[in-house]
Amino acid sequence: MQLRERIEKAIGTGAMSGRLWLYSNYHCNLTCHYCLTESSPTVPKRILPKERMTALAAEAKELGFTGIGITGGEPFIVPWLVDAIEEISGELPLTVLTNGTLFMGKRLEEVARLGGRDVRVQISLDRPNPIDNDAMRGPHNFAKVVEAIPKLIEYGIPVRIASTIDSQTEHEKSALEDLVASLGVAKEDHVLRIIVDRGLAGAEGMGVRAPLEQLSPELTITTTGAFYSPYGPTYQDGKLQKDLLLTQKTNPLRHSAQILVDLLQTVPRGAGDIAEGFI
Ligand code: SF4
Repeated sequence: MQLRERIEKAIGTGAMSGRLWLYSNYHCNLTCHYCLTESSPTVPKRILPKERMTALAAEAKELGFTGIGITGGEPFIVPWLVDAIEEISGELPLTVLTNGTLFMGKRLEEVARLGGRDVRVQISLDRPNPIDNDAMRGPHNFAKVVEAIPKLIEYGIPVRIASTIDSQTEHEKSALEDLVASLGVAKEDHVLRIIVDRGLAGAEGMGVRAPLEQLSPELTITTTGAFYSPYGPTYQDGKLQKDLLLTQKTNPLRHSAQILVDLLQTVPRGAGDIAEGFI
């Protein structure tokens, strides 16, 4: 069976995700306490060049993938990110994960161009009040996010909200649901993400264990390699965690896609127990 047929079959049967993940970069304007990638303004940027990202998206389409995800670091800190999103979303539906704090001034004007394209923006907002939220994500995070979301929706950009939590009371749950609704985001577009014990979270003793067989297979490309899951290319104490690395060769994409599809034959049942997917 040809590789494209194998990929389409794996996606069709739910054995792997149809989404190819691209880590656009690793630096970030924030320094969250549970960051999987130890991102901050001062870490190595590890930027996936724009031409490489668009080429990967084009090859993903040829191979039968059905969507692209962009994550980081904070993707929108990269100056040409909106240009890349415009090109990539012409190939496949695109979801981009962001902390939502950079949508102002010139960047907000650029992002407005994404309205009406096949692009969804997923913004992190963990807690229903600024004190608890900003304790994990940094000063003024809450205020910036609740200001940005209605603007993006007004531009015609679908927004999802992701809340990364270890636990929440019924009162917090209800308050968060009310906040999401007040921002104009539908209940089904609010996702709860668990903290996984990788990166900074793992170093701080936070999060649940996430071995390969507990993760949903989602091919993920960074500047350093191809990984089994977007939970894979994490950094701890400045070192790349390599247990979910498929190969360091990322060009052509078919090389790492072949490795992942072959691996699906050997991964024990129960895959995806930790998370149905990264988003
Ligand atoms: S969790 Fe996201 S927003 Fe926070 S430091 Fe890491 S990359 Fe930046």
